[in-house]
Amino acid sequence: MKVSVVNETAHGERRVALVPDAVAKLRAAGPEVLVESGAGARAWFTDDSYAEAGASVVDRAEALTADVVLLVGKPDAATLAALRAGQVLIGMLSPLTDPELVTALAAAQVTAISLDMLPRTLPRAQPMDALSSQANIAGYQAALIAATEYGRFFPLLITAAGTARPARVLVLGTGVAGLQAIGTTRRLGAVVSAYDVRPETRVEAESVGATFIELGSVGPASGAGGYARELTEDEREAQQQELAGHIARHDVVITTAQVPGRRPPLLVTEDALKGMAAGSVVVDMGASPLGGNVAGSEPGSTVVTENGVTIVGAAALPSSMPSAASSMYARNISALLQHLLADGALVLDGGDEITAGVLITRDGAIVHPALRPQESD
Ligand code: NAD
Repeated sequence: MKVSVVNETAHGERRVALVPDAVAKLRAAGPEVLVESGAGARAWFTDDSYAEAGASVVDRAEALTADVVLLVGKPDAATLAALRAGQVLIGMLSPLTDPELVTALAAAQVTAISLDMLPRTLPRAQPMDALSSQANIAGYQAALIAATEYGRFFPLLITAAGTARPARVLVLGTGVAGLQAIGTTRRLGAVVSAYDVRPETRVEAESVGATFIELGSVGPASGAGGYARELTEDEREAQQQELAGHIARHDVVITTAQVPGRRPPLLVTEDALKGMAAGSVVVDMGASPLGGNVAGSEPGSTVVTENGVTIVGAAALPSSMPSAASSMYARNISALLQHLLADGALVLDGGDEITAGVLITRDGAIVHPALRPQESD
């Protein structure tokens, strides 16, 4: 069986699906590994290092003939067109928000496996949890961006030129990225508060050094699979209004709130931004083309409001640390491959909870229950 890694095609993407270390381990499990020339270059992994690890370095056309093609993100149209029926494609395909891609993969009779659909609360799935590994990197980067944009110190500093008080940071959303943002801003010396609609995150936020804020106006909103549920309109308004008071008391706000398959919830409204002091910084990790956690944020751009608040629309944060992100992703995708391999061949057992969770299309059909068209459609 041949497994291949190809260059990512998304604009600005610097990650690669397998790093040389992972190639060596995969080879030991049986498969032949093909790597498209230059696939690791933007993450500082050379063709030579892949060859030394036992991979064959080939051109794109050959890499796309492998039985299993590995990606970090989605395939572009040309990649999809090059795949043949029966091939397996593994990546983070965002199927919940890209039904057209799912339909196209089924039509091409490609077996699609999406790491971002992993049932993450299963302990045995943890080594495969690419959403967590990449969110960890994103949370760390968001904290560093906030510190760089902020025109003052994060730590308490007592110097001959005066005393600087520590920055007051508020992290909204305390999932994997939020917890990492709390830990990193704390290590930089900031005083950190945090809030999440899932009350069970309180202990985790406190364990990494934040003071947890509770809102009286919104009850618990834990949903299925360890995720938050979407708030009702009334809950959303109440949350926004109560949060605005807390936001005004902070110098830096980092937002990380997500609800799977939905537009990120708006947490920091225009009014809340107006309540912040000049020089404050807001980093929106939920920024998306549909809108983000912060009013007026745009992915990949930084804007300053009339009252002097810098809003950073975070985009592609894991890709900005390509070596670490690729190494972690490679471990995740290798763990999934090891799970699916039996006697050197890929076995897709729909009765296995992990396999059923990540399997999107097979034999020309959309097989994932969350993606199958409803009977009435
Ligand atoms: P996520 O990226 O889906 O969301 C980030 C955070 O935003 C979540 O904590 C969510 O509760 C919060 N949020 C959503 N709407 C909000 C709102 N309106 N206001 C405030 N906060 C809001 O989350 P994630 O980091 O991917 O984590 C999702 C779940 O996966 C968590 O339960 C996490 O513990 C779980 N997880 C479990 C394991 C494991 O069991 N091994 C590993 C990793 C993650």
